[in-house]
Amino acid sequence: MFDKFREECAVMGVYGHPEAANMVYLGLYALQHRGQESSGIVSSDGKILISHRQMGLVADVFKEDVIKRLEGPSAIGHNRYSTTGQSHLRNAQPFVVEYSQGPIAIAHNGNLVNAQVLREELETSGSIFQSTSDTEVIIHLIATSKESSLMGRVVEALSRVRGAYSLLFITLDRMIAARDPMGFRPLVLGKFKAGKNRDGFVVASETCALDLIEADYVREVEPGEIITFGPKGMESLRPFPAAPHAKCIFEYIYFSRPDSNLYGRSVYQVRKELGRQLARENGVPADLVTPVPDSGVPAAIGYAEESGLPLEFGLIRNHYVGRTFIEPQQSIRHFGVKIKLNAQRAVLQGKRVVVVDDSIVRGTTSRKIVRMLRDAGAKEVHMRISSPPTISPCYYGIDTPTRSELIASSSSVEEIRKFVDADSLAYLSHDGMYVFVKGKTEGFCDACFSGNYPVHFEDEGHTRQLHLFDALQQR
Ligand code: AMP
Repeated sequence: MFDKFREECAVMGVYGHPEAANMVYLGLYALQHRGQESSGIVSSDGKILISHRQMGLVADVFKEDVIKRLEGPSAIGHNRYSTTGQSHLRNAQPFVVEYSQGPIAIAHNGNLVNAQVLREELETSGSIFQSTSDTEVIIHLIATSKESSLMGRVVEALSRVRGAYSLLFITLDRMIAARDPMGFRPLVLGKFKAGKNRDGFVVASETCALDLIEADYVREVEPGEIITFGPKGMESLRPFPAAPHAKCIFEYIYFSRPDSNLYGRSVYQVRKELGRQLARENGVPADLVTPVPDSGVPAAIGYAEESGLPLEFGLIRNHYVGRTFIEPQQSIRHFGVKIKLNAQRAVLQGKRVVVVDDSIVRGTTSRKIVRMLRDAGAKEVHMRISSPPTISPCYYGIDTPTRSELIASSSSVEEIRKFVDADSLAYLSHDGMYVFVKGKTEGFCDACFSGNYPVHFEDEGHTRQLHLFDALQQR
């Protein structure tokens, strides 16, 4: 059984740079928000692949001596976060295997929907799996392929998998980047500035990783594209039939960093635009607008601009919350949210407050935030959400709980308002979410908001996996 259904990840690769592993480390650092459970880098010095994977945050996993050991001009890395199944080192990526043609490592962001069927088939014919991650299926498909060239094997393997993948591979002398034909998860191509560090290339989940290492953004790795970086430079291949694109809209809403440029647009600007639209659709008389930091900040700025209300930080975030703290058993109410956020009486006392967040998942955070705002003196609390209600789980690489845990899957907006105890609650409309592309919805996956899954449930493996997974979650 795979445990990779609620997994979020970052990938980062560098080819042709004297400090490849160090650059990948910095990139992973910039991409920490996409996965905080484990981190790993595999480098190639041309003779062997060198690997380091560990549970923990990037800054804890890689110390100077580790980075020094990861020698060579090319390296790939991965951050992983999974709330379900096993949080175990054996599922930490990149995976490295030795097959008939030599060593190869893989790093994957996304979820495959037919991995279980493929795994059973591979196991029947003798493959031995080391992890419970669906990513390992790709490696076994490459290893058992009858194609003679590496590219032939990669193409054959990818032609068999369905679902979401933004992938990086590394061998002794090459790096390969691939994105699934529907382009669910982002993947961008960058290049080190000419002359500075030879002709090095970078591939990363988000552009914020390029900024930190001073690489120039070139373009997205296109959906369905496979790019090889080798001694002869870069080569692009599009071996699969064109498919309708299904780029994740939730990357814009919440998941990507606001300073990234996603699918050709600034995430920050898109979020601001969503906030403006939210104000146009759901304005309410109030004294001030306050964001839920950090996720609600750009939308709150847009809302404030559009509504003409002042923007104030009524909630202050502690940025130094670690994973380990001693939680009091009973005595402090809503401790979990309080340790992260504090409401300021000086701003809120006697005020009618519009509080803006990007999404409501289970509703528990919103409920605690409303309570905190009231406790700090807010006279009225109007909750505004810069996306439509989250009604369906993601099976393509965003960590969402099961359908039954998603409050909007079974409750009306009025019921949710009662639950979070706000004076009013309003979400952005479905059409309003596409305001930044002038209402053009084609090319995006919005399954979490619409229930329309672009990779269909008729797919045998997908249906089986969904049923198995939901059954496990219901227990
Ligand atoms: P909840 O209490 O479950 O309603 O959580 C809502 C909060 O979770 C909002 O502030 C969102 O910004 C945040 N959020 C939404 N999606 C995710 C996700 N996939 N991972 C972590 N946090 C999320």
